[in-house]
Amino acid sequence: MYDSIVIGAGAAGSVVARQLAEKGSRRVLVLEKRGHIGGNCYDRRDAYGILVHEYGPHIFHTNRKDVFDWLSKFTQWTLYPNGHQVVANVNGRLIPVPFNLNTLHMLYDKEQADALEKKLTDAYGYGSRVPIMKLREHPDAQIQAIAQYVYENIFLKYTMKQWGQTPEEIDPAVTGRVPVLISYDNRYFQDQYQGVPRDGFTEMFVRMLDHPGITVETGTDAGQRLELSQGEIRFDGQRFLGSVIYTGALDELYGCKYGRLPYRSLRFDFEHLAQEDFQNGHSVVNYTVSEDFTRITEFKHLTRQKDAEGTTIIREYPFAYTGAEGEIPYYAIMNPENHALYEKYKNLAKQHQNLYLLGRLAEYQYYNIDAMVNKALVLADTLLGC
Ligand code: FAD
Ligand code: UDP
Repeated sequence: MYDSIVIGAGAAGSVVARQLAEKGSRRVLVLEKRGHIGGNCYDRRDAYGILVHEYGPHIFHTNRKDVFDWLSKFTQWTLYPNGHQVVANVNGRLIPVPFNLNTLHMLYDKEQADALEKKLTDAYGYGSRVPIMKLREHPDAQIQAIAQYVYENIFLKYTMKQWGQTPEEIDPAVTGRVPVLISYDNRYFQDQYQGVPRDGFTEMFVRMLDHPGITVETGTDAGQRLELSQGEIRFDGQRFLGSVIYTGALDELYGCKYGRLPYRSLRFDFEHLAQEDFQNGHSVVNYTVSEDFTRITEFKHLTRQKDAEGTTIIREYPFAYTGAEGEIPYYAIMNPENHALYEKYKNLAKQHQNLYLLGRLAEYQYYNIDAMVNKALVLADTLLGC
């Protein structure tokens, strides 16, 4: 009855399903174990009518015009004219993050800051993006002093909270996502397109999955319907020869037989406040030297919601994922040991020629939404022989 089965209705699953149905006229079944679509991008109105992001703040940002245009078939956008901007609370003082020349001039007097700015631009060139772990290696004592300030006040404690490890212990690509900017650019991302879907992420995915070729079943754990054995996939007891696109955690597909893949999880604490503003207009404040939570997001500023009464905020508390009931694996912990374990599961998956792994969980990777959409579009084209 179906040509393809997609497991998971997050960004990866929803995009591939739509493309297979629309471009390839395939009949696609999407199974989603949560009670809703959209995966971690899911948003909803809270009891006070404020649009909140259930699984942490999501900002769409990309330089890929093709991805932006493809998504724009399903949504209009609330774009940020000045980009998404974040500040860090350092002992009560708010400073722009990523650390940039504006931050430098806030921290030093004019004469010192001008001299340091010259040093940094001479060393790296105006407009450079320098990962903190690279900046720390610079031989110049004054540049090292700046690097040490940034390391201690922006990266060390936040990273310890987020990952339970120091910046030295984690993959340098992770801290490299927030480089020191040798420019006067306060934007958190340097991408051309930045914003949120005008009517919310969920609405965008509802429209994406609204196609006569697509059937969506939420509240369905695919593990109860699929059987993987001896090179064949069975669905509801019948051999299934169509493509199966899996976007869930790969270890779970095989009953975690080699042990669990390690992840970081998050607890989200929402709070509604009967006041118009909590963060003085800032959508995100990172707590980089204090508190147990990493950041506070104030949703009305993030989504630019104008009709909100009061304000709703969310605090994020990271912890080590254990696989216990109700916990969600959010961040793959990228290191050689975990990668080797992932490869063992991937080798099992290779036995099934019609099984395709796609997404943050199934690929055990750190993808942003735009990269995920792009990968899903590429996979759909491959499956359609385009
Ligand atoms: P998911 O969204 O996790 O979707 C996978 C889906 O599969 C889930 O709905 C899950 O329930 C379902 N599933 C799993 N197993 C099964 C099963 N056995 N049966 C049925 N269904 C199953 N990206 C950005 O670009 N900008 C941001 O600002 C941003 N912020 C983020 C903040 C946080 C806190 C996190 C965790 C991520 C953030 N991301 C952000 C990344 C973004 O969430 C991902 O790129 C995107 O959600 C990946 O989509 P996905 O489909 O791979 O995964
Ligand atoms: N980071 C940090 N302090 C900050 C912001 C980021 O130490 O104020 C580090 C931290 O290790 C984090 C990584 O940089 O996990 C990447 O940050 P990003 O905001 O990209 O993480 P995301 O929330 O998107 O996963």
